[in-house]
Amino acid sequence: MWPAVEERSLRNILVVEDSPLVLKILEHLFRKESAFQPIFCASLGEAQVMLETSAELFFAAIVDLNLPDAPDGEIVDVVMTYRLPCIVLSGTYNEQRRDQMLLKGVVDYVLKESQHSYEYAFRLLHRLESNSAVKILIAEDSDATRHYIRHVLTPHRYQIIEACDGDEALRILKEQPDIDLLVVDHSMPGISGFDLVKLLRQKMKRHELIILGLSADTKGSLSAKFIKHGADDFLRKPFCSEELNCRVMSTLERRDLLRALKQAAQFDALTSLNNRRAFYEHGQQLFQLARSGGRDLSVAMLDLDFFKRINDEHGHASGDAALIAFSRALSSAFPDALLGRLGGEEFAMISQQDAATLSSTLDQLRSHCANLKYAIGAPPLCFSAGIYHGAPDDLESLLHQADLRLYQAKNQGRGRNCWQ
Ligand code: GH3
Ligand code: MG
Ligand code: MG
Ligand code: MG
Repeated sequence: MWPAVEERSLRNILVVEDSPLVLKILEHLFRKESAFQPIFCASLGEAQVMLETSAELFFAAIVDLNLPDAPDGEIVDVVMTYRLPCIVLSGTYNEQRRDQMLLKGVVDYVLKESQHSYEYAFRLLHRLESNSAVKILIAEDSDATRHYIRHVLTPHRYQIIEACDGDEALRILKEQPDIDLLVVDHSMPGISGFDLVKLLRQKMKRHELIILGLSADTKGSLSAKFIKHGADDFLRKPFCSEELNCRVMSTLERRDLLRALKQAAQFDALTSLNNRRAFYEHGQQLFQLARSGGRDLSVAMLDLDFFKRINDEHGHASGDAALIAFSRALSSAFPDALLGRLGGEEFAMISQQDAATLSSTLDQLRSHCANLKYAIGAPPLCFSAGIYHGAPDDLESLLHQADLRLYQAKNQGRGRNCWQ
């Protein structure tokens, strides 16, 4: 099979492997992956032809070291000349061979031992995909160690920045707040790595900056001290390249998981609007701010009209499409308001606009919704809204007032706003 050219989201992976059993396992694992498309070659010769004609279409390569026409890992040099990230699969463990491969700059050396090792190779592919957006700052005063760390991390496609001491690291972090991970040596001139961690953790949480401490110090307590004061992990020098890569990879995976959990806890999965809990949390903050500034707020409750009919007559998928389309339209109509899906087809909003302005923007949204094409043959979308503007005792009673007006709007025939 020839690599896919068009589908940008699909990454072509060159797999050079001759063992039928390993191929079967890889095929099975690739079938579960929607992001990767394997292109199989059974020999060095085949791979060479493929690379000469289409190297630029590949994202990475997984290669076997023992091939019929290349029994000694020759495939690695070929793949590396095309600057493709290369994951090595090996049937036997050979320390010298492993060091040789890592020195050449392969992403990793994976033993064909168990299902876990194959899954690990896929974890590497996934990380490679996201790594180009990951910024790593190395704060280390020793030129040799700094260069070694850069050399070890480079095959994994991170963006790498270097700082020669703690003060330079602080300056770079201030200039580039999107840095994801800091590798920081303990003994440096000026501010020590340990003090840098303490300082940074006052401002930046773990999901904002991952910190990996380094030290040649043999005192066992230093690693614990680092971690207790907010480092995510610690490595004692000298460390081997795989150790550093594994720690970087696992702390990044942990951070991504934490972010995904936060996302799932805050946002409604269907519409990506704030869920009920997040809406109330943020709403309380807005309410306190407005109260301390002596300002009034507007709150609105919105509910789609005859929504059940869309589900009943056009299917649940059409109902879902309606909820998504309405949420998008609502977000564009009110870019500065706090929006939330409170449940089902019920939405809420907190805005700085006065009731009359808010009502007229909702009327414009209503006209827009009437023309929204969200599912084939489905009826126009319509909603009712209740608005309350003022400064009562708490957010809950503001929302209650808006809810009463929503009922009024429904009772008066739907497709309207009530705000007086
Ligand atoms: P009204 O004009 O009085 O508001 O009537 P309605 O039909 O809009 O309201 P009703 O409360 O009778 O029905 C709401 C329906 O919304 C019932 C429920 O099955 C459906 N629903 C709730 N959540 C979802 C969802 O996530 N997706 C879909 N497709 N339907 C949902
Ligand atoms: Mg083989
Ligand atoms: Mg040092
Ligand atoms: Mg409804």
